[in-house]
Amino acid sequence: MIQPALLEILRCPVCIREKDGLLHLVKETWLVCRECGRKYPITEDIPVMLIEEGDKWVATAEDDLPVPPPAID
Ligand SMILES: [Zn+2]
Repeated sequence: MIQPALLEILRCPVCIREKDGLLHLVKETWLVCRECGRKYPITEDIPVMLIEEGDKWVATAEDDLPVPPPAID
């Protein structure tokens, strides 16, 4: 389970450059950017805030996100 305090300070690494980049938690294991729709997996309680990882899931609907997220190489 991700710490609420950590969740509060995390931002989308793309949108933070020009906007707020606020994220919201989906299915307890995904952080979804409100601005661009990138989705960052939380694996083993660690949020993976990589742009390339967020890019992979832009077109995936929130309902279709896999739980748990697939392992990252
Ligand atoms: Zn974003």
